[in-house]
Amino acid sequence: MKFILAKICVIYLTFISISCTNTKTKDDSHHSDAIAYTEAECDFGDIQSPINILSQRTKGIIKSRINIEAHCNAVENKGHTVQIDFDSTSKLTFGDDRYSFKQLHFHTPSEHQIDGITYPMEMHMVNVLDNDESDKPHFLVIGVLFKMGKENAFLNEFLNKIPRDHEGLVKVNEAEVNLEDLFGSYDCEEMKHYFHYNGSLTTPPFTETVSWHVNQVIFEASEEQIKIMNKIEGNNARHIQDLKGRYVEKEDLYVSSK
Ligand SMILES: [Zn+2]
Repeated sequence: MKFILAKICVIYLTFISISCTNTKTKDDSHHSDAIAYTEAECDFGDIQSPINILSQRTKGIIKSRINIEAHCNAVENKGHTVQIDFDSTSKLTFGDDRYSFKQLHFHTPSEHQIDGITYPMEMHMVNVLDNDESDKPHFLVIGVLFKMGKENAFLNEFLNKIPRDHEGLVKVNEAEVNLEDLFGSYDCEEMKHYFHYNGSLTTPPFTETVSWHVNQVIFEASEEQIKIMNKIEGNNARHIQDLKGRYVEKEDLYVSSK
């Protein structure tokens, strides 16, 4: 069953299959980020993620069009994160740019902060730019923060399917796991507001080619749901990075009809 999230006003997203490992060193007894960042192949520069988003210190407002077509096909325990995979027909368009929507995954607690607040969970929807001829892939990641509250229907569609106690993958179809169920209950007008900034992957190799879009709406999930997620993936949030002269823009994303 194919659907276009745009129809129900879904605008979200986040990150890629190199996703979410923690900044672990080869020897955890000497664990420190200073060591981790000096590992070969890591791209640690001036625009790292995540950041603390200060809502009163944003600059300007930008507007763009977005459209998402998403078809879930697997649920994975990656060891360091829980990931939902999407098939090769899953796409995101942002303005005139076309991306492949690869996967979404979770962090417990949140990686981004808003006004200094860390939330119990964050979801990243990872999209990779198509027809990209540069030497590094370019990503568009949509971040969604969760607070404790009502049980979340979308999470219930796959929480019991995640392989426990071991890494593994379970095939699912769209009738079972449907991203539309996450966004359908939210108001379109409210959902269009994002924070945008340019940053990096939050796991090695920390590549600095990520356009971040963090929704201003804080979603809800039950304490039990967040505990289940955290029990499987552990504490997998990277710490806050310095802005280093960057600024965050407010952004309104309008769902296009394709
Ligand atoms: Zn992530």
